[in-house]
Amino acid sequence: MPKKVLVIGSGPGGYPAALRLKELGAEVSIVEAWDFGGTCLNRGCIPSKAFLDTGHRVHAFEGLRKLLKDGSGVNFTPAMLDWDKVKARRADVITKLRTSLEKLFLAKKIEVLRGKAAFTGPNEVTVTGPQGAVKKQFDFAVLSAGTRPSFPPPFRDYHSELTDSDRVFDLPRLPKSVLIVGGGVIGLEFACFFNAIGVEVSVLEILPDILVGEDPQVTRAVRSSFEKRGVKFYLGKKAAKIVISGGRKTVELEDGSKLEAEEILVGAGRAADLTGMGMETIGLAWDRKGVKVNDRMLTSVPNIYAVGDVNGISLLAHSATRQGEIAAENIMGADHAFDPDIVPKCVYAWPEVGSVGLNKAQAEAKGLAVKTSRAFYLGIGKAVATEETEGFAQLVFDAADDTVLGAQIVGGPATELIHVLALAVKLKLKRKDLREIIYAHPTMAEAIHEALAK
Ligand SMILES: Cc1cc2nc3c(=O)[nH]c(=O)nc-3n(C[C@H](O)[C@H](O)[C@H](O)COP(=O)(O)OP(=O)(O)OC[C@H]3O[C@@H](n4cnc5c(N)ncnc54)[C@H](O)[C@@H]3O)c2cc1C
Repeated sequence: MPKKVLVIGSGPGGYPAALRLKELGAEVSIVEAWDFGGTCLNRGCIPSKAFLDTGHRVHAFEGLRKLLKDGSGVNFTPAMLDWDKVKARRADVITKLRTSLEKLFLAKKIEVLRGKAAFTGPNEVTVTGPQGAVKKQFDFAVLSAGTRPSFPPPFRDYHSELTDSDRVFDLPRLPKSVLIVGGGVIGLEFACFFNAIGVEVSVLEILPDILVGEDPQVTRAVRSSFEKRGVKFYLGKKAAKIVISGGRKTVELEDGSKLEAEEILVGAGRAADLTGMGMETIGLAWDRKGVKVNDRMLTSVPNIYAVGDVNGISLLAHSATRQGEIAAENIMGADHAFDPDIVPKCVYAWPEVGSVGLNKAQAEAKGLAVKTSRAFYLGIGKAVATEETEGFAQLVFDAADDTVLGAQIVGGPATELIHVLALAVKLKLKRKDLREIIYAHPTMAEAIHEALAK
């Protein structure tokens, strides 16, 4: 008899788990309460990149204008942008991808249930949806319920009057100014997009720096690039009060100063929402960070796994996918563990950021003596020829034996280049191994080659 496995949630954690389980011979059902494809496809990675691409086209247009005779007389203004078309383009991208995902499930003969699942026993959920309340039995379950935007105080009391990373994609009109709350990846990507299309942007961050956990060289480079383009940062500042009046929204800070904008986008983290899911019924342990799992993705209940954002380990789509595959393989008899050290962390703004493994401070905190080597794009032929000279490639080595411990790249196609270095970290390659690779000329990857020579 094939194992009966139920997957809850069809985001990048859930759907790869379902596909892998099917491939390995399980009888698979997947239940989805909202849109197929989860946050990633509908309100996250994909729509934000469609928006960013629009911003990048405006950025490129401005670059072209500089080359035209007399500046060509065509100056981009936000009024030139058809906001409804920008939104329609993103909706079109989502529909295409969602449709192919749904077709894939049909083709693979994976049962799809619509509605919200709640555990009603260690081997049973009740799915409440268009078909009423239906009970479904399983041998194993993979919980992949994702997260929702968090609204810390004082923003919490103004949830419906402010926007967040879910609702920003449907703003009825383009605001003239946006205050973004949160200097993490999500906040910075929206800051980059709105700034590119001519919206006045400020970023408020409670911590002393943006991109928590990133190397200070990286955050300095990103901040300085954004600031040159007019983005204002308010770091280490705490909001005390919100005032909304006459179409303006004001945040009063604890230091007494005020920040005002037409729109406030709260991008201050995400949290699992597990209310009403019967967690207590089956004794599934969870806390503020999410569902507790071990490195095999197994929860406190021996036949239930939890993958992706819901376990709070790494709120990234590719982490969710790897965890989903690991849970599937472990259910089918393997014993695989998730390795957070080889997860690439990317920012898809400009300059792009890609980092993997340990940075200097993280390695030193582990008691390691490290050496770092950095090469700036300013010295790379391709970067100079394409006027993409902002940024650098930096490698972190174990001083004892030159093993690659981590890498940080700012600028260029950092989100693509970082994979070579993820491989180096995974395989524990040494500096000399990476030097033996031949780097095509002229490419931005030559920055890695240059850094290795330092
Ligand atoms: C604006 C934005 C941009 C982002 N950009 C990136 C990026 O560029 N790269 C990246 O790696 N990550 C990015 N992320 C993060 C990424 O979207 C998440 O890490 C990823 O979606 C997590 O996948 P998941 O499967 O765990 O959860 P989700 O994608 O959130 O999927 C969970 C699904 O479960 C469903 N569900 C929940 N409860 C139930 C229930 N009881 N019954 C049935 N169904 C249920 C939900 O409706 C949802 O569809 C971004 C996030 C945001 C908000």
